[in-house]
Amino acid sequence: MNLSYKYRLYPSEKDKKVLEKNLDLCRQVYNHFLEKLNKKDETPSRYELQKQLPKLKKKWTELKQVHSKVLQMVLKQLYDNLKSLSEQKRNGYKVGKLRCKGEEWFKTIEYNQSGFKLKRTENRLDKLRLSKIGKIPIQLHRELEEEAKGVIIKRNNTGEWYAIFQTEQETEKQNSVNSDDVEAVGIDLGIQNFIVDSDSNRVEHPKNVEKAEEQLKKAQRNLSRKEKGSNNHKKQRKRVAKLHEQVKNRRMDFLHKLSNAYVNKYDRIVLEDLNISSMVQGKMNSKNTLDSGWRKFIQLLLYKAESAGIEVVLVDPKDTSKKCSQCGVKTNKPLWQREHSCPSCGYKTDRDYNAAQNILEKSLGEGRAKVTPVETEASTDTNFRDVSASFVIETGSPFLTSEVS
Ligand SMILES: [Zn+2]
Repeated sequence: MNLSYKYRLYPSEKDKKVLEKNLDLCRQVYNHFLEKLNKKDETPSRYELQKQLPKLKKKWTELKQVHSKVLQMVLKQLYDNLKSLSEQKRNGYKVGKLRCKGEEWFKTIEYNQSGFKLKRTENRLDKLRLSKIGKIPIQLHRELEEEAKGVIIKRNNTGEWYAIFQTEQETEKQNSVNSDDVEAVGIDLGIQNFIVDSDSNRVEHPKNVEKAEEQLKKAQRNLSRKEKGSNNHKKQRKRVAKLHEQVKNRRMDFLHKLSNAYVNKYDRIVLEDLNISSMVQGKMNSKNTLDSGWRKFIQLLLYKAESAGIEVVLVDPKDTSKKCSQCGVKTNKPLWQREHSCPSCGYKTDRDYNAAQNILEKSLGEGRAKVTPVETEASTDTNFRDVSASFVIETGSPFLTSEVS
């Protein structure tokens, strides 16, 4: 399984020139081989073209400024593009030939297996050493959890540079989850909190993301007032793109860390199935951003769970907030009512915590082996662990690994 980790690079002006030069040379190599291929009736193998690279370098001495693996990966990129073109053709799409790439259209170079190394420093920024390019400051805002097999260096539309590390995640746990010692958790996707789980963790919505989102909205409004084509418009457009990137990065960072924490701690994770409409109506017809965050979170869980050999179960959310998790009696509560207070057994707790327990229980009711219930006695004072979003981002959610106090 491949996972990628994206980090911002902060190249100096001098670094930028070298990076741009590398991009440009790779672009020319891409175009060079593409033209060659377009003249041929039969496409030679990639390996055959790769063998021509050393000879080409002798004639075209500038290419010595580019790491040899990087040049090889240009060919890979070209062949990948050819492949997806022929796939489209097979699927009935009308496709032309690949076109040569202009400067604006070639944005990435790739190191594979060798030629790159991360260097830790004592400073805020660490360094990424790229062979033939130099040591570029990098912001490792989250841990690279496995060894990287390759790295893609990318320039985005606003002229910012990123390093995207490719890793191959190994399966840590075997698919031998024994029902007796399964550690399971139910998760309610909440409005008050991002999630509340059946182990009484409450994780707040990523507020700092929301703050950045406010800035983004403001900048977008600002942009619409500027005259198109003017310098101010261009400047503002860059700013908008930058904020957009920031919001996206922070949100993903939060979701990655939180999903890692759950996948590392539990053998079975049970959540509401967002595609079942009974929930959509009740919870969030107007909250699209919440919805997309939860979906992304579930997607990440499913993806990581697969490689970790654990189970993610999605259950029908019907009645999970109505039902008392202790006695099973159903009562209607309006959305604004944050507390669950059972008229039948007297169980009082957080509304979403009650739901999380029901969600966990639902996975047991679906013909699955029994799981040790988290708590059974009706209590009225649950000790919640409230976790801020920034704590998740900064620490990677170790709260899940220590005992609830
Ligand atoms: Zn009850």
